[in-house]
Amino acid sequence: MKTIGLIGGMSWESTVTYYQLINEGVKDALGGLHSAKVLLYSVDFFELEAMMSRGAWDAAANLLGGVAARLEAAGADVVLICTNTFHKVAPEVQSRIRVPLVHIAEAAAETLRAQGISRVGLLGTKYTMTQAFYRDKLTECGIEALIPEKDDIDLVNRVIFEELCLGIVKQESRDEYLRVIASLQQRGAQGILLGCTELGLIVSQADVSIPLFDTTVIHAKKAVELALADR
Ligand code: GLU
Repeated sequence: MKTIGLIGGMSWESTVTYYQLINEGVKDALGGLHSAKVLLYSVDFFELEAMMSRGAWDAAANLLGGVAARLEAAGADVVLICTNTFHKVAPEVQSRIRVPLVHIAEAAAETLRAQGISRVGLLGTKYTMTQAFYRDKLTECGIEALIPEKDDIDLVNRVIFEELCLGIVKQESRDEYLRVIASLQQRGAQGILLGCTELGLIVSQADVSIPLFDTTVIHAKKAVELALADR
């Protein structure tokens, strides 16, 4: 089994989910007492969020690239950035390591295509929803992304940073998310991509009729697949 390197802590609320899903995936595949070989470097999200808010992406790339290099030096065979938003600096992080960085949007697009979906409603931080780095990657992989209207982008983003990343899950915010999802569905989305690793904490498939695709689940599954390949 290969060793999975996780760059976590963005936020730690969703890194917990990654750790659990990766271990469950290995246990399901190998049975018995098997568990995943994981190296986790969990950052201080306060520092990263500050860089993101002031647009200091170079600083974030440098910090995360350094973390990736440490994980590789410690023995990671694959590396994951456990957040969608910081994939903005994925090329810079990949350039610091020789082992593969498993791109969350590529993994998501692969899953969507396998389900015959070509147009999704994208929910995530304002950076993920509005900037080119994420939507262009989906487009490159054959997936068109619809995003909410301006006010709803602000709402979805605010709930992520002021509630979910702090472990707060409110029913009124869930209701707002369900309204936003319904409107993306009306506009022609065939599925909803939960393009933020905390969104599985607030909406689940049982809440909606449209298929939901959770990037945390997809990314963790891809890591397990790679860790168990060519054994
Ligand atoms: N975890 C979130 C994501 O997947 C948002 C927090 C962050 O900016 O890292 O984008």
